[in-house]
Amino acid sequence: GEIQQTPHIVVLPTPGMGHLIPLIEFAKRLVFQHDFSVTLLIPTEITSPSKAQKTVLNSLPKAIDYIFLPPVNFDDLDEDVKIETRISLTVTRSLSSIRDAFTNMVANNNMRVVAFVVDLFGTDAFDIANEFQLPSYIFFPSTAMLLSLFFELPKLDQSYSCEYRDLPELVKLPGCVPIHGTDLVSPTQDRKNQAYKWLLHHSKRYKLAEGILVNSFIDLEPTALKALSVETPDIPPVYPVGPLIHTSVSVTNADADVSKCLEWLDDQPHGSVLFISFGSGGTLSTEQLTELAFGLEMSEQRFLWVVRSPSDKTTAASYFSAQSAKDPFDFLPKGFIERTKGLGLVVPSWAPQIQILSHGSTGGFLTHCGWNSTLESIVHGVPLIAWPLFAEQKMNAVMLDYIKVALRAKFDENGLVGREEITKVVKCLMEGEEGKKLRNKMKDLKCAAAAVLSQDGSSTKSLCEVALKWKSKP
Ligand code: UDP
Repeated sequence: GEIQQTPHIVVLPTPGMGHLIPLIEFAKRLVFQHDFSVTLLIPTEITSPSKAQKTVLNSLPKAIDYIFLPPVNFDDLDEDVKIETRISLTVTRSLSSIRDAFTNMVANNNMRVVAFVVDLFGTDAFDIANEFQLPSYIFFPSTAMLLSLFFELPKLDQSYSCEYRDLPELVKLPGCVPIHGTDLVSPTQDRKNQAYKWLLHHSKRYKLAEGILVNSFIDLEPTALKALSVETPDIPPVYPVGPLIHTSVSVTNADADVSKCLEWLDDQPHGSVLFISFGSGGTLSTEQLTELAFGLEMSEQRFLWVVRSPSDKTTAASYFSAQSAKDPFDFLPKGFIERTKGLGLVVPSWAPQIQILSHGSTGGFLTHCGWNSTLESIVHGVPLIAWPLFAEQKMNAVMLDYIKVALRAKFDENGLVGREEITKVVKCLMEGEEGKKLRNKMKDLKCAAAAVLSQDGSSTKSLCEVALKWKSKP
């Protein structure tokens, strides 16, 4: 008979490290646990990969190939175009190169492609998969709660004509903690903006997917996942496969910045250090950066802080590059680094987050609540201070507060977290009674996370189910 070729999956990560990282992790599972091979098609607006991208792509196993699609041209876009719009346009403007890549794999090289997987903003590429008679799936790198919003959005859009932030009542998503309109994912905050139209556009296309893999797990979002498990014509099968987090750590250890952080942590007492990071793209205003610096100093707690140059225009200034344009240290209060030398370490722009969270000296994480950061903290049992900035981070913060694994940093009437508030919340997490409770709750979740990914855990089984479907495709 004919020799069966390795079944191949084509994966399209939309721009952003928060999409690339979990999709790579997902690809690794497919390769190592289910013997698939994978090609990542990477649409982009930048001409050369960022340092952060290079780090994760350089450590890929052989069975995962990647192709940078030709960069799209955005010369016609206004400067203030929102992230979700940029991401969506990166995909639509790459469609012909995505088609070329498929033609090359399927027609020219006769590869046995069995499925196409996009992340949350990649639904426009479904059309290409259809041309090649391939089933499309979504890997959803966020919560079941956000996924639920995607399914509800067309209905909400019909039911209300006002801005969601002006709704008098809380929004009730099936199986989720009720939430204020102001806390919904950021593109919902201005319904006239193009970003909202894109969100709505994608949300209407979700039903076209054959299935949706979500990076969450039963014990974390039991009721939201239950509500999503009821299949309707509008909701395809939902498979909770998480927590999938960035695992490869060894390669970058040679990096001097990495060793510096880890060696410093080695010298600190167990569970004593607060790690502070706002993800790959989060930036603070100059004023907020100053408040945070003083707040930390006044708390007298140990800290490891990833500082990025402030941006007074947007909270996602370096989303696509993960790099600061200027030396971030120039923006810290005068003498801050010297004064906090014994207690704190400040690193510019990017830190080895996984290694930091898994280090015994780390006892808390002040985070922007990006979903990957959140899962990484859960997997390592580190309790949180929630300081959401953009995207779905406020929704995440509400949920994490509700399940009691996070304290919330309170914003004042000017939208700032003042230094006293910072001192208070940091002390409360690191040495207070409440911090202890959160830490215990996080430990429970850590155990649950390990269990769902064990050999017959629920997330392992969900992924097996999908893998079997894909393998049985002729
Ligand atoms: N990350 C990192 N070092 C940093 C900042 C971020 O390794 O200094 C990684 C982090 O571990 C996570 C991802 O980048 O895997 C950020 O994803 P997340 O969803 O938390 O936030 P986003 O960057 O999408 O806002």
